[in-house]
Amino acid sequence: MLKIENLHAALEDDSEVKILKGLSLTIKPGEVHAIMGPNGSGKSTLSYVLSGRDGYTVTEGSATLEDADLLDMDPEERAAAGLFLAFQYPVEIPGVGNMTFLRTAVNAQRKARGEDELSATEFLKLIRAKAKDLQIDADMLKRPVNVGFSGGEKKRNEILQMAMLEPKMCILDETDSGLDVDAMKLVADGVNALRDAGRSFLVITHYQRLLDHIVPDVVHILSEGRIIKTGGPELALEVERNGYTDLMAEAQA
Ligand code: ADP
Ligand code: MG
Ligand code: MG
Repeated sequence: MLKIENLHAALEDDSEVKILKGLSLTIKPGEVHAIMGPNGSGKSTLSYVLSGRDGYTVTEGSATLEDADLLDMDPEERAAAGLFLAFQYPVEIPGVGNMTFLRTAVNAQRKARGEDELSATEFLKLIRAKAKDLQIDADMLKRPVNVGFSGGEKKRNEILQMAMLEPKMCILDETDSGLDVDAMKLVADGVNALRDAGRSFLVITHYQRLLDHIVPDVVHILSEGRIIKTGGPELALEVERNGYTDLMAEAQA
């Protein structure tokens, strides 16, 4: 599904600031991979580079989504190809109702895939069913996008966007940050409901607790722009017990 090879990225304004320094990983269809790492290790930069956000330059390496060159596409093309980033639309959009925004996004996505647009009735039926699962009420669907939403409401809304867009490759960057346990469980349930043989996830998190609820197939530890260790879910527990320091020392030895 997603193949990243020897990815190097630096700041666009200052190529001396190298952030990703030879990162490689391959995610197969249906797999959930987690990336954990200390603050500043390059986790968010990886998601920004994959989404095509301004500010970073790829100096070496490649990233492909189902064999198509991601780095060659603009952000809209990446979305149309099936990539979704959970922080992609956390912005507040005053004056635009959440439902209207989602209908536009869903239909743009369908058009890009060569599918027919959903009618108003079809869309309404779909969004009501998915919103119910995420305990998003009708009022939240009508309010302007993210305006005055609590942290938990914003995260649930991100998962709703994901559920509506039906992407192939979902990247969640620190989706758990600032959530209480109940909100985190709701978000995790939403993600788990979307797990499917044809859909893959990259879950980026600083802490292990989210991975109790979204159990990954593979865990990678990122340090200073490189993956220093890859393992199963037990690797996340090792980090929880011992922190990152031992793993970083081990990698340097
Ligand atoms: P993480 O998400 O793992 O905490 P980031 O990807 O946010 O790490 O940052 C990795 C490193 O790159 C940090 O040292 C950070 O200070 C630096 N960095 C990232 N973006 C910028 C930027 N726009 N300007 C300056 N430094 C940046
Ligand atoms: Mg950080
Ligand atoms: Mg980050």
